[in-house]
Amino acid sequence: MSLVFGPIPSRRLGQSLGIDLVPLKTCNWNCVYCQLGRSTPLVNERRNYYVPEAILAEVQAALAAHRPGDIDWITFVGSGEPTLHASLGLLIRQVKTLTDLPVAVITNGSLLYLPEVRRELSAADAVLPTLDAGNAQLYRKINRPWPELTFERLLDGLAVFRQVYHGKLWIEVMLVKDLNDTEYALRGIAAALQRIDPDQVHINLPIRPPAEPWALPPDETGLMRAIAILGDIAQVVHPARGIFDLSGHNTLVDAIVSIITRHPMREDELVRALERWTPGQVEEALQALIASGLAQRVERHGARFWSAAVSHHP
Ligand code: SF4
Repeated sequence: MSLVFGPIPSRRLGQSLGIDLVPLKTCNWNCVYCQLGRSTPLVNERRNYYVPEAILAEVQAALAAHRPGDIDWITFVGSGEPTLHASLGLLIRQVKTLTDLPVAVITNGSLLYLPEVRRELSAADAVLPTLDAGNAQLYRKINRPWPELTFERLLDGLAVFRQVYHGKLWIEVMLVKDLNDTEYALRGIAAALQRIDPDQVHINLPIRPPAEPWALPPDETGLMRAIAILGDIAQVVHPARGIFDLSGHNTLVDAIVSIITRHPMREDELVRALERWTPGQVEEALQALIASGLAQRVERHGARFWSAAVSHHP
């Protein structure tokens, strides 16, 4: 089976050429929402699951088969946890000798407490670890880790990595209804994120079939709560559209209406997405939309949102 796949469109990484470093479901976590099913058994052994030279030959062939512009990122991701491959650091460095494209690693972050894993990941341009909980109990409930991979180790590893890592640190939070979408759970995650100080927080939803059928995405209120609370810590990229590209709209009103009718937007996020226009022009357009009954302002958890006037926010 080919270990290199794509490029596939990725919300966060554009057209992403994927490199899969481990056999299906080789993972030291067993997340309730995992789209790959359950980890049976859990695996926490770092070794060369595939020969590094074979992986690099595949990457080289894939790069040669695509035109410049077809690929935006090379991404280590796939059938399990990529940091379990013992040659991950070597592979990142070698891939960077093959291309100028940026390299990302999507990881659960559980092994960042190990100095050698931090060193290896430092060669990547972006690292996207997971943080779904702000306390040990919820972490065990959602991520069901290998017993020695404690919450303290996860948090310490992420915080220490941030201090030494100069690339983009984008933390992923998978929101699961009634597990980590409550105010209490989100405040705990926010406190943990404050300690880590990531560049961005990416909210994901379990929209593909999860390992446990009861792991459901939050409703709109839960999602808004998460955007409000986590948005105080770092820029939040939320699931509907990734980073917003409103460049295709001719008028400001058109750009605002197109976005808020599909999803409520935190005000600072909306202003950022509309940076083509001055803040004064944005404010004027929003007031006009309120007056004409097309938009409404909603306050939630200390943050201000904009949504279509017809949306119901009790
Ligand atoms: S860390 Fe990733 S691969 Fe492992 S169980 Fe969780 S979602 Fe699945």
